[in-house]
Parts: sequence; C-alpha cells; structure tokens
Amino acid sequence: VMTIKIAILGARGVGKTAIVRQFLYNEFSETYVPTKKRRVYLPAAVLNEHVHNLQIMDFPSIPSFPVNTFQEWANACCRGVRSAHAYILVYDICCFDSFEYIKTIRQQIVETRLMGTTETPIIIVGNKRDLQRNRVIPRRNVSNLVKKNWKCGYIECSAKYNWHVLLLFSELLKSVGCG
Ligand code: GDP
Repeated sequence: VMTIKIAILGARGVGKTAIVRQFLYNEFSETYVPTKKRRVYLPAAVLNEHVHNLQIMDFPSIPSFPVNTFQEWANACCRGVRSAHAYILVYDICCFDSFEYIKTIRQQIVETRLMGTTETPIIIVGNKRDLQRNRVIPRRNVSNLVKKNWKCGYIECSAKYNWHVLLLFSELLKSVGCG
C-alpha cells in the first residue's frame, strides 16, 4: 500500500503542530513550542473506512517571504516539501498576515508544480475557529477565493476543541483520490 505524503505549511503559531497532535493523539496544549526542525509522523490512520499509511510532515515556518524561491527554501530547510502528494496550508482566522503567508506559499507550490502534469491537491485551513470573536478574515471572502479562483478545498477548524480536524484529513484523502 502506498504511503501518502502530506505536507503541512503555514506561518508561525497558526496551529500546524496542534492540528497534527490533535489528529494523531487527541491532545492539545496551550503552550507554544515553535517547531524548529521538520517533524515527520508515520501513522496508519483509518479514514473514510479504510486504513491509510500516511507520512505527515510538520514543517518549521520561515520568517517571511520572499526569502528565496520556494525551491531554494524547500531544498535548504524543508526537504520533502516538493515530494508531497498533498498540502495542508494553515492560517489563523484571527491573523491577517498568516493568510498573506499562505497566499505566497500556494503561489509557490502551483508554480513549482507547473512542470508536472497533475494538479496537486491543496486544502486551505482556517484554524482557531473557537476564537471566532477575534476573526479578522471574513469566512465568505476566503471561501470564495479558495473555491472559485484557487479550486482548492476550504475547511475551518479548531485544533483546540478538535472541531473538523478529522474532516480535514478525510477530505484531503478524498482529494488525492483515496477513500
Ligand atoms: P505552529 O507554529 O503552526 O505549529 O503552531 P502551534 O501548533 O504550536 O500553536 C501555536 C499556539 O496556538 C499554541 O499556543 C497553541 O496552543 C495555539 N493554538 C493552536 N491551535 C489552536 C486553536 O484551534 N484554538 C486556539 N484557541 N489556540 C490554538
């Protein structure tokens, strides 16, 4: 059975590690421990009623774009970014800059992948949905842009309360044609 490689990317502090840990271990911590090195998890997960071997790559965030090109960045500090089968791009619904960050990353992914033939599945995730009262990015704006222009999936979740975290991974697997 093939291992599905998933890269999770986004600005610092948006909740990438929290999403992965909630998905895999059903745990959440309020303490922020920045991811310094790429962390790889190799779970076998039951999603959409099938067992899937996953390789989830949690990447450290780079301070800001444009640092280099995505390729240079990927080569330098994020081995594995380019070989992913699918991408989860996370932003924080309460942080405008974190959305700008994933716009840039998405652009880079699309450009680097243009050489390939098939489209790479990308899911855009608005995390920290529990902090709805501090939201700065209207859901409707993002969801229109993401679905119509980018043709990507869009999910809002809360890693804190485990809301839509499972849905996120099962939608992702559907988009790579599994399950
Ligand atoms: P990363 O840098 O993207 O990996 O971010 P982390 O997963 O380390 O999370 C950064 C901070 O945001 C931590 O203090 C988490 O406790 C907090 N956090 C993550 N997800 C959520 C969420 O859904 N809701 C709330 N309220 N806080 C969250």
